Amino acid sequence: MKYQSTRNGCPHQSFEQVLLTGLAPDGGLFVPVSLPSFGIEEIQSWADLSYQDLALKVITPFVGGDIPAPALKKIIYDSYAEFHHPDIAPLAKLDENEYVLELFHGPTLAFKDFALQVLGRLLDYMLIQNGQRVAILGATSGDTGSAAIEGCRHSDQVDIFILHPLNRVSEVQRRQMTTVHGENVFNLAVDGNFDDCQRIVKAAFNDQAFLPKECRLAAVNSINWARIMMQTVYYFSSVLKLTRGKLKVSFSVPTGNFGDIYAGYLAKKMGLPIDQLIVATNANDILHRFIYQNVYSASKLKKTFSPSMDILVSSNFERYLFDLFDRDGEVLSHFMQQSLSGKLSVSDEQWKSVREIFSSASVTDDQTCAIISEIFVKHKMLVDPHTAIGLEASRRCNNGNNYPMVTLATAHPAKFGEAVVAAGLKVPDLPGHLENLLEREERYQTLPNDLHAIQGFVARNLRFCSK
Ligand SMILES: *Cc1c(COP(=O)(O)O)cnc(C)c1O
Repeated sequence: MKYQSTRNGCPHQSFEQVLLTGLAPDGGLFVPVSLPSFGIEEIQSWADLSYQDLALKVITPFVGGDIPAPALKKIIYDSYAEFHHPDIAPLAKLDENEYVLELFHGPTLAFKDFALQVLGRLLDYMLIQNGQRVAILGATSGDTGSAAIEGCRHSDQVDIFILHPLNRVSEVQRRQMTTVHGENVFNLAVDGNFDDCQRIVKAAFNDQAFLPKECRLAAVNSINWARIMMQTVYYFSSVLKLTRGKLKVSFSVPTGNFGDIYAGYLAKKMGLPIDQLIVATNANDILHRFIYQNVYSASKLKKTFSPSMDILVSSNFERYLFDLFDRDGEVLSHFMQQSLSGKLSVSDEQWKSVREIFSSASVTDDQTCAIISEIFVKHKMLVDPHTAIGLEASRRCNNGNNYPMVTLATAHPAKFGEAVVAAGLKVPDLPGHLENLLEREERYQTLPNDLHAIQGFVARNLRFCSK
């Protein structure tokens, strides 16, 4: 399997190279040169596999020969051994044809664990093979940071630096990062918002001269292809559990950086019978305005009850636009440049093809709370605010085709107490392994919203590179 950049400005790369670099050297994102696809009979034949074995079927073509099968198998089995539910990604039924896919049974209680447990181990494996070390630099709107730290904390091959926006992540989210005290773990609170953090990370990847010569950066954000790849698996597991692959299933996906929903889009392109893919956003609704009205323009960032989706510009959307623009890197580069200023649209024909695949909704904080309380009263289930947005969108966008509708439950409600309280309910206890989180000692640094300040901190604190 070979990978290319969405900006077409660099040579094809192997899985290993893509895993270790993250962002392409030309500023684009890596995508496979050609996507693997599976016949429907082959997919149906996987209906009785364990989650781990299904994952191996789905991801092996992406990894190609870069990791021997037994090593890949061990990585997958070790990663999901950290989960606290035997089904890994269980489905809960709400109503006839209405389901919730619980993606919060991993160590940090959000769906990010599905990919980052694996990514940490993949990096470790490759780096040990090559005798290399890297500095991981990532930005988090709350959940990526803790999942990445959890996935990498035991690796001798990496130092990990995670930027989070100061005072804009929930207390539980912050503490899940700042109470991990490995000597290779650095938490940086940036005086800015998530987009500022994401911009600094991208700029640092594009200019690595601040690092010692033998050192380079690796990415844990969903710009890293391996994350997207791992997230396709639970779309397969859901369809197989609900219909054994004999009927289509629809998905509603709480969306921020367009990573999770893009994984669903890929699963569909790979042959999985998917009907609707619903993009569920909060008030930060650039994707909804694009899908609904063909207007692509960033607005002002709004702080909401669903902070993991408080994002202005969705990095992974570039990967979808690349397909929409017939994989023409120049057209895409032009579009991305233009999008920095002003409003953009695509042609009517292109917009039509967007709408054939995606529908969308934007949900306010009030509506989010109303859904949390309604689901609690009706079904005795407490959902987190991101999941509530997904559920509301699934109802608004349902096309009436009568296929099972699955909403991705992206986090555990204990992570987002503010919304639960606003919905008039009691915040649930954290699960056992995080019981005394609020008493643990925190360690983090506050830094200005400035590329050079961050670069300087990273360069000074690397454990392993000569200074
Ligand atoms: C990251 C996250 C999202 C958004 O996922 P994307 O892949 O960035 O679209 C939604 N909900 C929760 C709880 C998250 O942590």
